[in-house]
Amino acid sequence: MKKNIDIGFLVRENIRKLKPYSSARDEFKGKADIFLDANENPYPNYLRSGSTGEDRSEPPMNRYPDPLQSQLKEAIGKRMSLQPKKIFLGNGSDEAIDLLLRAFCEPGQDRALICSPTYGMYKVSAGINDVQLIDVPLTQDFQPDIPSLQKAILDYSPKLIFLCSPNNPTGNAMDKEAVEAILKASTGLVIIDEAYSDFAPDKSFLDSTEEWPQLVVLKTFSKAWGMAGLRLGMAVGCEEVIDILNKIKPPYNLSSIVQEVALEQISECGPESEIGEIIAERNRLRESLTQMEGVLEVFPSDANFLLVRFRNSEEVFNKLRDQGIVVRDRSSYVKDALRITVGTPQENQALLYQIESIFTPNFSIH
Ligand SMILES: *Cc1c(COP(=O)(O)O)cnc(C)c1O
Repeated sequence: MKKNIDIGFLVRENIRKLKPYSSARDEFKGKADIFLDANENPYPNYLRSGSTGEDRSEPPMNRYPDPLQSQLKEAIGKRMSLQPKKIFLGNGSDEAIDLLLRAFCEPGQDRALICSPTYGMYKVSAGINDVQLIDVPLTQDFQPDIPSLQKAILDYSPKLIFLCSPNNPTGNAMDKEAVEAILKASTGLVIIDEAYSDFAPDKSFLDSTEEWPQLVVLKTFSKAWGMAGLRLGMAVGCEEVIDILNKIKPPYNLSSIVQEVALEQISECGPESEIGEIIAERNRLRESLTQMEGVLEVFPSDANFLLVRFRNSEEVFNKLRDQGIVVRDRSSYVKDALRITVGTPQENQALLYQIESIFTPNFSIH
């Protein structure tokens, strides 16, 4: 049986009582031709030489952007079958992580929970906000440890539980049954970070936000969508939680340019064909690496990267770097492990060649 949760009770008292900043663009709702309400420069795009400001494909940069990004939310909602009011948009999903901590965790008092090894930003963000972090490590096969989690929830009543699925850096998605057990046990919000779920859409928990008001799903346009430089991420949850995030975000957290470019990209065809290619390359890389001398283990992946354990990960890391190939050293998270992002077929080929040459004496004369 699912539990009802009182969001108003979970949120910090000062946030519940906060009267948010109301911008000029928030307060005026009607239609008008003359805007003298926001102290803007009336001359559009004067910085761009030759621009008349009448080119409709460019946002008028002299005007403040829509603080609630309604057009973009409409387009994302259509694409992902979501109601716009269930969507929060942020300057990367990292902004949502920070705002969730700030909204729900009283500094120096409330706790959040993570399951290591996982994405490092939860810990950094909790540290910045002076929120104590409880760590309940994943099991050997990188799944949530349900009995330990149930005990930790009883002992610490964490306001937020961060799960990452598919998990960074291990690559695997979390089991549905395990996540449901956590949702049932939790006394606070459960955040599932789905930065990589476009690579395993059938394992997404996005639809479950309808059923569970305590569930918040994070998504990003930085990975599969290829827009890391744009900085656009989202949180999807019940209207009450989303309203709280909107209330405390900086009023203009997404620039006109970000909204315009994202709208264009999202309205066009998505990255499906690239995703297919990346998955095929990931499987090919995994197969090749598994057979290599010096490779101890290649973990299964639902994402666009592989976590690989080497006989001597430090040597592999350094030799790859010397050849101009940068991978991520995750040996402090998982013993001897490097995290390797799937690149283009040429990049992957170069990677395999270099690794092979490390473990095969006299490889270069072949
Ligand atoms: C890359 C990544 C993010 C960051 O997303 P941004 O939208 O670029 O801030 C969030 N979570 C995980 C697990 C990631 O790997």
